[in-house]
Amino acid sequence: KPTIAVVGRPNVGKSTLFNRIIGERKAIVEDTPGVTRDRLYATGDWLNYEFNVIDTGGIEIKDEPFQEQIKMQAEIAILEADVIMMIVNGREGVTNDDLFVARILQQSKKPVVLAVNKIDNFEMRSDIYEFYELGLGDPYPVSGSHGLGLGDVLDQAVEHFKNIETDVAEDDSVRVSLIGRPNVGKSSLVNAILGEERVIVSDVAGTTRDAIDTDYHYDGEHYKLVDTAGMRKRGKVYEATEKYSVLRANRAIERSDVVLVILDGEEGIIEQDKRIAGLAHEAGRAILIVVNKWDAVKKDDNTMKKFEDQVRQEFQFLDYAPVAFVSALKGSRLPTLFPLIRLANESHKKRVQSSTLNEVLVDSVSMNPTPTDKGRRLNIFYGTQVSVGPPTFVLFVNDVELMHFSYRRYLENQLRKAFDFTGSPIHIISRKRN
Ligand code: GDP
Repeated sequence: KPTIAVVGRPNVGKSTLFNRIIGERKAIVEDTPGVTRDRLYATGDWLNYEFNVIDTGGIEIKDEPFQEQIKMQAEIAILEADVIMMIVNGREGVTNDDLFVARILQQSKKPVVLAVNKIDNFEMRSDIYEFYELGLGDPYPVSGSHGLGLGDVLDQAVEHFKNIETDVAEDDSVRVSLIGRPNVGKSSLVNAILGEERVIVSDVAGTTRDAIDTDYHYDGEHYKLVDTAGMRKRGKVYEATEKYSVLRANRAIERSDVVLVILDGEEGIIEQDKRIAGLAHEAGRAILIVVNKWDAVKKDDNTMKKFEDQVRQEFQFLDYAPVAFVSALKGSRLPTLFPLIRLANESHKKRVQSSTLNEVLVDSVSMNPTPTDKGRRLNIFYGTQVSVGPPTFVLFVNDVELMHFSYRRYLENQLRKAFDFTGSPIHIISRKRN
């Protein structure tokens, strides 16, 4: 999916426009502990195009002077977006900060669409002409509060999508990403896996896509390590802002089949680790938990077991994810990774036969009868797998209200026992049979 980044000074109305673009769509997701949904990153659509939208205004870079903040926001937009939407305030006219941002955008050669906000009525339209001075092409009048003019701006943005080369090569490779908070050793691990400093790639500014993937072959299978360039190119300053690292993680997750959630064995688990892992879980990807820096951990005979217990405790929603212990620095235990990646990927793509599925369901119900509520009993008529990646099952029932969380959980465990979905979430949806 192409990405639009929204940039502009504070108070020009970025968030209002951002919300207008994404509409009121809220993904229906199950509750994951520790995951806060902020609206920094969302999806929108226009004229049959689906795209991601980033509100760079939501990325606050603490302790930096104002000019430095807007500069970084513009740079993040350049790194992350295919099309940049710059928003200015039509009531204030061109400011020095607008000129400053416009210059950075111009140098990037990324396509920019310029929206002049707060043009609430027709008489105000003449106020837009002075924005030609920014050198970003035609200014478009919009009104975030009245919902006017946005269509024309999106038309322009979508026009630019047509020139983007699609980056999803339709091959049979398994896309693997490494996510985690700064300094857990993501880049070190990628380097250790690839065996050399291959991650460092030349920095071609401007028009090319920044998400560069690296091919890797293991045991006759083709993998792609997602966004290996991004790991190097983006400075620590950026990654250190939590919202930006969440955004990066989201982008990597979106493009992968298997996600490695990297933890720092030396420092232990913190809240931010859970949030990042929660994103991968919510997205329904195959997941492996990788504890890095295992070399730096003082060990007795039980250390690994203890750490794994702690992982299980802290990441209860990831009870299906295997845990691996490695050291990127020493290169140790790395061979344990790919067999687990393969296993998780197979689980993620697993298809089970309807007949076998229904046998398992019937057995499960006979071992543990379905719940009742106000004298009515849940009746499961039939189940079928509707998709893979992750495996998703639809159960046809007499009344969806009767499918309690705990019973769905029980059925999930039974399916896991019967078919082995190690490393993959599975989704169970109840539908009323008509
Ligand atoms: P990233 O921000 O997640 O990409 O982390 P880096 O790969 O840049 O690593 C952060 C720091 O941790 C660097 O100083 C690395 O040398 C160090 N580091 C990475 N992996 C290991 C490891 O396995 N053991 C130890 N002791 N240090 C590591």
